[in-house]
Amino acid sequence: MSASDVLVIGSGAAGLTAALNLAERFRVTVVAKGQLNEGSTAWAQGGIAAVLEPGDTFAHHVEDTMVAGAGLNDREIVEFVVERAPAAIARLTDLGVPFATEGDALHLTREGGHSHRRIVHVADATGWAVQEALQRAAEAHPNITLLPDRVAIDLATSRHEERYSGAGNVWGVYALDRASGRVELHTARATILATGGAGRTYLFSTAPRGATGDGIAMAWRAGCRVSNMEMMQFHPTCLYHLEVKNFLITEAVRGEGGRLINPATGQRFMTAYDAERMELAPRDVVARAIDAEIKRHGLDYVHLDISHMPADFIRGHFPTIHEKLLGLGIDMTTGPIPVVPAQHYTCGGIVVDAHGRTDLPGLYAAGECTESGLHGANRLASNSLLECFVFGEAAADHIATCWDALPPVPAIRAWDESRVTDSDEEVVIKQNWTEIRRFMWNYVGIVRTTKRLQRAASRIRLMTDEVAEHYGHFRVTPDLIELRNLLQTADLIVRAALHRHESRGLHYTLDYPATLPEAVDTVLVP
Ligand SMILES: Cc1cc2nc3c(=O)[nH]c(=O)nc-3n(C[C@H](O)[C@H](O)[C@H](O)COP(=O)(O)OP(=O)(O)OC[C@H]3O[C@@H](n4cnc5c(N)ncnc54)[C@H](O)[C@@H]3O)c2cc1C
Repeated sequence: MSASDVLVIGSGAAGLTAALNLAERFRVTVVAKGQLNEGSTAWAQGGIAAVLEPGDTFAHHVEDTMVAGAGLNDREIVEFVVERAPAAIARLTDLGVPFATEGDALHLTREGGHSHRRIVHVADATGWAVQEALQRAAEAHPNITLLPDRVAIDLATSRHEERYSGAGNVWGVYALDRASGRVELHTARATILATGGAGRTYLFSTAPRGATGDGIAMAWRAGCRVSNMEMMQFHPTCLYHLEVKNFLITEAVRGEGGRLINPATGQRFMTAYDAERMELAPRDVVARAIDAEIKRHGLDYVHLDISHMPADFIRGHFPTIHEKLLGLGIDMTTGPIPVVPAQHYTCGGIVVDAHGRTDLPGLYAAGECTESGLHGANRLASNSLLECFVFGEAAADHIATCWDALPPVPAIRAWDESRVTDSDEEVVIKQNWTEIRRFMWNYVGIVRTTKRLQRAASRIRLMTDEVAEHYGHFRVTPDLIELRNLLQTADLIVRAALHRHESRGLHYTLDYPATLPEAVDTVLVP
């Protein structure tokens, strides 16, 4: 049990930014389901987009974001985020993030879909440096309590009040303490969900093991709308390796001259798909091109080749990737890297406004678990960390401004501990976990059809009953909590995909290949 002013669920870029912005005035508790650095933030390689190059403008960054988003972005939100990027970079620099420099200026790299060099980075391990700096600052702050190894199960809402008010407020969360095996209640006047994405709904994903859509599922169950869940981004270039299944080869390798080659024909195949932008076309275009080459030629992978660039240049720009690949017997300075597309980013999520407010009083959300209107139908590379900083701060600001209007926490019921039997069928969890990820990959992947989506929907229906029965009878475990959320998220993705009768951005279906004239969000209402 903990009681604080504000509870943050998630210790990545969004959660820690929010916590640091609140801590001068409030007592903040941050819970994370594993170690503090186990979210996607620490895995980000490429960098953070910000207008800093002479000749670049906010208008260019806005336009590039809108083009990638295929009409579904909210222009005001895009402007709001883009205009706050330089200040966000300055704050991270103040926190000690050692961004790469060139002379007196920050070194900027270029990524697919960006019309200018705009990506601030720390070599090819930007996220790790950002996570370290945020975590160091949070650990040093006397008003921040960091609680790793707490798996949030469900939000504590008005329904859990001892006297049900029906007001729909959120007062914190029930979370499983991995060490004690007990479910604790963490209460707060305001709660921020910063739980990251839902990549692990798919068999191949660049996201860490914990990206199981927990925040999206919890918010949905509590009564929040979710939007654009069908917009799942597939990164074109994940390493193809029999043992290492989720190592990303950053966009910047293509930005710095990497070419995509069909290993069967030896041809640079992007000429046939997007002759103008080639390897720097937006991710959905490149991912579909690779998928098409793989399917047409019966390949396991295609080649990404940057070995025509000087070896020192490659080692200097991509030290982490170079080292990792060498350990696997691949030398990117002398030969190509085998790559496949993999799920990479969840564009849809909990509906939030410019202050990070959800539909429920007292509940905010920030980062990859949200749909803020920034990404629309496709995220522009390196805009996602930026979204975490801007919305982490915006949510904190709103809480601080409206603090007096937030009602104090009433008496909330403790977790019902009547389910004391341990499951005797762990196999149910393992089997369903693998099955979801496999059918989502096969039926709800890069290229969809209505029939495949319906197949996925019918499997989800069957599994929902099985998992609900399990959840209702046995003591909760981290795996069971995640499986329940994975299934809930898969259901939301499939429902949203079935709802959209067109192809737009990341949603491509053979049954509706055209784009409709009007761009409309897919908003699911609980
Ligand atoms: C390989 C890779 C490379 C990337 N490269 C870039 C890049 O170069 N630039 C860019 O802008 N973006 C990049 N991204 C995307 C970006 O890293 C993420 O969108 C961003 O870091 C998300 O931050 P977040 O704070 O929303 O969530 P995360 O950093 O994922 O943090 C989620 C937090 O929530 C916690 N959590 C989740 N569920 C629960 C629960 N049930 N209970 C308690 N805690 C929970 C986790 O423990 C974790 O602390 C990349 C992503 C990946 C996977």
